Amino acid sequence: MPIDATAPYDDNNIFAKILRGEIPNKTVYEDEWALAFHDINPQAPTHVLVIPKGRYVSWDDFTRDGSDAEIAGFIKAVGIVARDLGLPAPGYRLLANIGGHGHQEVPHLHVHIFGGKQMGMMLPR
Ligand code: 5GP
Repeated sequence: MPIDATAPYDDNNIFAKILRGEIPNKTVYEDEWALAFHDINPQAPTHVLVIPKGRYVSWDDFTRDGSDAEIAGFIKAVGIVARDLGLPAPGYRLLANIGGHGHQEVPHLHVHIFGGKQMGMMLPR
């Protein structure tokens, strides 16, 4: 079920538990601002999620309430992860789902990194 991106942050969401180390994950990168790990249900040969360390539901509250340092640190981390995965030359796709129409399911901001194949058109026609 898609979430309401305007709801308050829920500390029991699955990515909050991953950040607290309560649930295992396959980490590919971590720094002060972000954690990146393999998606549990990959939709491409490479499917990695990058999440900020802070308590943000979606891109909406992150870009409204996040500090410049958090936002810069997170965006830089996404680029670092994609480069570490060797994706810039063949190309890749970033995706952030937001709320109901975006079909966001986990209420902690995450950017999907998809790579390793031709992604095709952006949205189904
Ligand atoms: P959304 O639809 O919210 O943009 O994407 C949520 C993503 O989180 C999905 O691709 C789903 O497979 C992934 N996911 C959900 N639960 C877990 C989990 O416990 N571990 C990991 N690694 N990924 C998860």
